[in-house]
Amino acid sequence: MNIIIQASYFIAAALFILGLKQMSSPVTARRGIVWAGAGMVLATLVTFFIPEIIDSDHVSTNLTLIVVAIAVGGGFAWFSGKKVAMTDMPQMIAMYNGMGGGAAATIAAVELLKATREVEAGLASSIPDALGADVTVLAILGALIGTISFSGSIIAWAKLDGRLNTSKLLPKQHFINAIVAIATIGFAVSVYLAGDLTPIIIFFALALILGVFITVPVGGADMPVIISLFNALTGLAVGFEGYVLGNAAMIIAGIVVGSAGSLLTQLMATAMNRSVLNVFFAGVGTGTVAVTDGEQGEMKEIQGQDAGILMAFASQVVIIPGYGMAVAQAQHKVWELTQLLTAKGVMVKFAIHPVAGRMPGHMNVLLAEAGVPYDMIYDMDDINADFKNTTVTLIIGANDVVNPSAKTDTSSPLYGMPILDAMDSDNVIVIKRGRGAGFSGVENPLFFADNTKMLFGDGQKATNELIQAVKEL
Ligand code: NDP
Repeated sequence: MNIIIQASYFIAAALFILGLKQMSSPVTARRGIVWAGAGMVLATLVTFFIPEIIDSDHVSTNLTLIVVAIAVGGGFAWFSGKKVAMTDMPQMIAMYNGMGGGAAATIAAVELLKATREVEAGLASSIPDALGADVTVLAILGALIGTISFSGSIIAWAKLDGRLNTSKLLPKQHFINAIVAIATIGFAVSVYLAGDLTPIIIFFALALILGVFITVPVGGADMPVIISLFNALTGLAVGFEGYVLGNAAMIIAGIVVGSAGSLLTQLMATAMNRSVLNVFFAGVGTGTVAVTDGEQGEMKEIQGQDAGILMAFASQVVIIPGYGMAVAQAQHKVWELTQLLTAKGVMVKFAIHPVAGRMPGHMNVLLAEAGVPYDMIYDMDDINADFKNTTVTLIIGANDVVNPSAKTDTSSPLYGMPILDAMDSDNVIVIKRGRGAGFSGVENPLFFADNTKMLFGDGQKATNELIQAVKEL
């Protein structure tokens, strides 16, 4: 039986890795999700045959608990996955991520508590004596990382879901965080040395508080990096606890998630021109910079009819989608407009900023769903030089990712974040509903520029006006 279990874990781990590999291209990504999911189903089913579970005196209780846990967790995931709006996906990822960290920390807690019982019963002299020194160290490390990831992810969820609106730094916040971090590490050491319950409880409580304190001050513009970082930490915690349980599938899955998450974190931080440490300590995007019309000039409005004509006679149109396109679910209309323009001989390209929308790859997913071919879609670095050759740049529901103050205004909270250079094109048309700021709360001087015209309205409705205008020509 043991060989079958180990072989199943090996197959599950291979499915995780092959699935992840396929997720690197939008063409194969769906299949990748199915493969990784199949690996997870296999790893879960095998649990029912683990000797420690079925050979124990409590076999029926064990199996009942597993079935109830699968029903509750699976049921919740099924319903939330079915009903979540595409725009709420980051919150859901943050929440699931937190659950993973919490689960890893719970495994550590159970193992540590079991070891304290052995110490109390005189069967072992200390926790490392009961579990082994290597296992104890990894259990504690996994507990620390998993617990921080759990409470931090819950705060990230609350912020992204609009339930917690503060990003304020407390007075001496970094000092307080440092004290809590040192105290947590101190209690981690005493968990290893002491062998009783009290340090374990204090250690977990402090780690929970640390996760909250670290995440509350993180500014709006940096939330994607933080979510990705917690994802990496959860993977690491799962890998450590896999070692504690001697579970190969957990170790491999944890390492895969940990390394993929670390790479993504690094890529996103680079895309925003920030270091990961700076994300934690700077609190960027924590306030709104109020700029009035008077200071910036006036926004100039354009009607759908005129904007459509301008685009139909352009030699090149670049479309920049942002969060607002996702809210308006305008991707199908945008693709319809693209086809009409292409039929009129206009060269149309899509420009994607790495953090456009509310999750990595958000815009790519929406455009792929609408049927936009991948060869029309350009990453920021590949298209930025081309804006100079562009007659019209159409911005639909994007704001922060085209904000030139990120380049020019050292006092802007966005300063340093690379942006799409929409302002270099001959004409800029911006579709948005009104004067609302972007995610970071920062005003955008591009909207007041001489070559920019505002087409106010919901993304889908305004794109439809453009479609009608082009059709009528
Ligand atoms: P922004 O959030 O900066 O701007 C979106 C704009 O869309 C708003 O100004 C809003 O203006 C407009 N809008 C909203 N609803 C509609 C609608 N129905 N129709 C038309 N327009 C609409 O989006 P960007 O994509 O430019 O930037 C993404 C931001 O999100 C960055 O700051 C990034 O750091 C952050 N972020 C990114 C994540 C990621 O992983 N990609 C995750 C979490 C945050 P108005 O109200 O006037 O319509």
